[in-house]
Amino acid sequence: MTSPDPEQQHTEAAGPLRVAVIGSGPAGVYAADALTRQSRVPVRVDVMDRLPTPYGLVRYGVAPDHTRIKGVARVLRTVLEHPHVRFVGGVEFGSDLTREDLARSHHAVVYATGASVDRRMGVPGEDLPGSVAATDFVNWYCGHPDSELERFVLDSEEVAVVGAGNVALDVARLLLKTADELRHTDIPQPVLDALAASRVRTVHLLSRRGPLQAKFTAPELRDLLALPGADVLVDPGQVDIDPARVSGGSPEPSRVARAARTNLRLLSQQAGRPPRGLPRRLRLHFWARPQEVLGPDRVRGVRVEHTRMDADGRLVGTGTGEDLAVGMVLRSVGYAGAPLPDVPFDPVERTVPQEAGRVLGPEGRPVPGDYVAGWAKRGATGVIGTNKSDAAATVRSLLEDAPGLCAALPEPVPLERVLDERGLAHSGYGDWLRIDTAEAEQAEELGRGERVKLHGWRAYRDVIERGGAQETREDSAS
Ligand code: NAP
Repeated sequence: MTSPDPEQQHTEAAGPLRVAVIGSGPAGVYAADALTRQSRVPVRVDVMDRLPTPYGLVRYGVAPDHTRIKGVARVLRTVLEHPHVRFVGGVEFGSDLTREDLARSHHAVVYATGASVDRRMGVPGEDLPGSVAATDFVNWYCGHPDSELERFVLDSEEVAVVGAGNVALDVARLLLKTADELRHTDIPQPVLDALAASRVRTVHLLSRRGPLQAKFTAPELRDLLALPGADVLVDPGQVDIDPARVSGGSPEPSRVARAARTNLRLLSQQAGRPPRGLPRRLRLHFWARPQEVLGPDRVRGVRVEHTRMDADGRLVGTGTGEDLAVGMVLRSVGYAGAPLPDVPFDPVERTVPQEAGRVLGPEGRPVPGDYVAGWAKRGATGVIGTNKSDAAATVRSLLEDAPGLCAALPEPVPLERVLDERGLAHSGYGDWLRIDTAEAEQAEELGRGERVKLHGWRAYRDVIERGGAQETREDSAS
């Protein structure tokens, strides 16, 4: 006689496996997708978000003019509309709802809260007015409700963007496009008006290492090089590199080496081209790291030190440099995770410690019922699609553990009861659809694209309240 499959045992002995996913960005929604795509363990998934709007960085991080990437929202939507998935908006993990609360209502929790903190450059003057995190700027043009509409007045002719990742390219591109080029995007109307009034004419992109080490990817670089209204200036001396060096002479270069080669080819084609007299310009500075943001009262410039790689591959200063007379510095040097209350956190990696998606406690053993996916798990790397396989790997571990998790909580309390006990007004998927519709209507009224984002908590609340308390209650019923 063979022993029964443990997952089979689970389905016979218990009700559905109840999973709370914290965060409705790509990692969280892909986790819900992986949970509902399998049929061996019956599941019910609550995808929670502190915002009433789902999709995380797809909505508030992907650049508004990257409509193809934003189209991922259509895929994520089908997941949230699965009958065994429920979206619970307006609930913040840690303050509104604690890990202890969820221990009563769910067998497992998947943390998919991303990496919300901007990294710092660690140079003097970094906090001067006019020196800001790219995340702030991204939140502003993406219409994040925490961002204030008046946050940016683009009154400087020259701006520095620090970093050579895809966020830096997004930010530079948005600064270099005209409002007309952006009017069919979902940018909130007051933000589009501020971009239309922008006085920015030159963007300096500062990369502390060379073109081969840049983190940006070829499609994003191509977008930048193809801007109709901006000259892109590349110093030929900085891209005069033998492509064979990229792969160390290997006949089968790695994916990273191939990507670096493509970047190098694109930059080499651009190098030395004289400006065409276009209204705006982008100047790429490789081997240039900010040494100081110059004040004294607000940003008046940035002091840059030229760098090189030493024989051991370490980045070192050359002792030479220059001052760039910029009025704004946007640091785009990567994102880091923030600790969640009652969830282990690695302060060095700035991620949740884990093994195969199982959260590890201080002694290095899995914390029963706790899982992690996405940037909170692996750091701020990869593209949106990376989260699909990442979340699926976490869900595999969770499903393996399912029999034990269900045995530990034989009678989960309905989430509604926990929310009611906490006196929490939350929103549901129907409320999000009302916001979605209001944004489509706004786009039509303004004669702009498919959607124009509403802006601010107040605007969201107004739409939800108009939708009516009755319907809101129906949305949140399981
Ligand atoms: P990133 O790819 O990690 O790039 C950060 C950049 O900042 C690097 O060039 C890094 O240089 C530089 N940097 C770090 N510390 C610095 C310092 N102290 N001074 C100067 N430069 C410094 O981060 P990201 O651009 O924020 O992107 C995060 C993730 O989102 C990435 O996986 C990215 O691909 C993804 N993303 C994708 C898209 C897209 O697919 N279209 C769009 C946006 C974001 P070093 O290499 O020398 O450390």
